[in-house]
Amino acid sequence: MSQAQKILKQYWNYDAFRNLQEDIINSVLSGNDTMALLPTGGGKSICFQVPALMKDGICIVVSPLIALMKDQVSNLQKKGIKAIALIGGIHNDEIINLLDNCQFGNYKFLYISPERLQTDWILERIKNLPVNLIAIDEAHCVSQWGHDFRPAYLKISVLKDFFPKIPFLALTATATDKVQEDIIHQLNFKNTKIFKKSFARENVAYMVFKTEDKYHLMEQIFSKNPQPSIVYVTNRKSCVDISNQLNSLGYTATYYHGGLSISDKENHMNRWMNEDAKIIVATNAFGMGIDKPNVKTVIHLHLPNNIENYYQEAGRAGRNGEKSFAVIITNPSDIIHAETQFITVLPDKSFLNLVYKKLNNYFQIAYGEGIDEQFQFNLNQFCQKYGLPALRTFNTLQFLDRQGVISLSQEFNESISAQFIISSKEILRYCSLNPNDEPIITNILRTYPGIYELITPLNLALISKKSGATEDQVNKVLKKMKDRDVIELIIRTNDSLITFNEIREDELTINRISKHLENQNKQKTEQLQAVLNYIQNETQCKSRLLLNYFGETTDSNCGICSFCINTKNKTVDKNTLKSRIIDLLKKESYSSRDIIKITRFAKDDVIFVLQELLEEDKITINTNNTYSLL
Ligand SMILES: [Zn+2]
Repeated sequence: MSQAQKILKQYWNYDAFRNLQEDIINSVLSGNDTMALLPTGGGKSICFQVPALMKDGICIVVSPLIALMKDQVSNLQKKGIKAIALIGGIHNDEIINLLDNCQFGNYKFLYISPERLQTDWILERIKNLPVNLIAIDEAHCVSQWGHDFRPAYLKISVLKDFFPKIPFLALTATATDKVQEDIIHQLNFKNTKIFKKSFARENVAYMVFKTEDKYHLMEQIFSKNPQPSIVYVTNRKSCVDISNQLNSLGYTATYYHGGLSISDKENHMNRWMNEDAKIIVATNAFGMGIDKPNVKTVIHLHLPNNIENYYQEAGRAGRNGEKSFAVIITNPSDIIHAETQFITVLPDKSFLNLVYKKLNNYFQIAYGEGIDEQFQFNLNQFCQKYGLPALRTFNTLQFLDRQGVISLSQEFNESISAQFIISSKEILRYCSLNPNDEPIITNILRTYPGIYELITPLNLALISKKSGATEDQVNKVLKKMKDRDVIELIIRTNDSLITFNEIREDELTINRISKHLENQNKQKTEQLQAVLNYIQNETQCKSRLLLNYFGETTDSNCGICSFCINTKNKTVDKNTLKSRIIDLLKKESYSSRDIIKITRFAKDDVIFVLQELLEEDKITINTNNTYSLL
């Protein structure tokens, strides 16, 4: 057993590596800059976690996905491995503490967002760390040709100057050839070893169906294939509506989107994982860390916005190797409206300017301030306040996020504010009647002296820490006091968290980033074009279309996609048609028009088959343009 295998067994309890993992790990251990293209669920993280554990020192992992970083850090911690994440919203003294821990505390993994690498003093401290490996997750973000370009990723090449002898590992699930080359170039990789798992999935049948009645077709699919399934839609409302509809039709369905509370997310996902609910209707927020092997069908009821995302979402079908289906159901109006839906909601410079200013005003951030400030955010409330269109505003915030100006994370949060509405004497009496609640109440009063005069936002984590109670207990005490009219209590729910990564500079900021805006809009238009091409193309195998998109060539059709099945049916149909025509002409001669009328086959098919029969000398054409048997 190699040392890598021992580590795999010790921490993950797996006996063997999957597909290319071992080759990638060996390449990294030999000190090569390495690029690994592994599909989602291909065990990307093991490729850097195992070699990092084999060597002294710490592995830096750059990732744009805050939720994913938190998830991986907590998984490592559960295995007893020391890991931390440096993400937005942490104050400078805390960062210094964390980085000191990395240097002297024998930490093995430092997860960091690319935005954090923009800060010079953080870079200076990172320079001193005993780094053994640098892993760049979602490496396609480096390339402006990729589907998720983030300028902050370009800064990663600075690490290459600091650590010229340390191997770099770029990981991504999807990258076209052009993007791969760009990643290697932008990150200054030397003698790069590239490992690429084929994008082909032999057991997945890619299907595109056009119908006026999407729900009816979806139901037909589920009645034939009752196994676990995922339905992807683009908005939260559809998640709830379609899940309800499926339940009312007798299926078991649940739903998942970014606006659910953490506990709801967990509950809904568990119901699907245990198959109490066979179908989960979800937005693209659903996917991270999901590895359910027996998903039979993944249906997209709305158009995906790029092929990269589509491939990843569709790829959740059939992980167990059994035949499964990746289906897009569209109707003609989807294609007509695609332009309005995806393209007209892209922001231009003046809209970007407007949203950026309003956002700063909304949080009362003054010019030159705001860096590292974190706020709860509700998109709908924000849009309502300023009369902004929601989708276009969301796209603008996403652009600001990609550009590193803000970090937008879709996480459910509850904010609690309170004010005492009785006198301090009455509170003393209340405390003597409820002695168990006293430590929490006195803590609140000490921490928030102004709470008699003003509605005050409370930090439950802080109160719980100070009073030695759980957050749940603090919550209960607050609700009890509200019920007894001791306090006024306001509970607000927000479904996003915004962190400002830069100081407010209005024009300076906007001018700097707006040059990327045009490029991004162009990319999005091209990406949509690729999706439309995938859907509308009726002359090629769907699986081959996808493979070609990712730069793979193959000379054979998959045999199971909607195109391949259709072609097979057509050949069957033509044979049927041939024998129908022969039977018909046995009785008397007919014109082609009559044959079309009688057989009810398409004109083109009838003409085609008549031509074939003529060539095969089975029939002849008469002077009056009728056909008879030879
Ligand atoms: Zn095919």
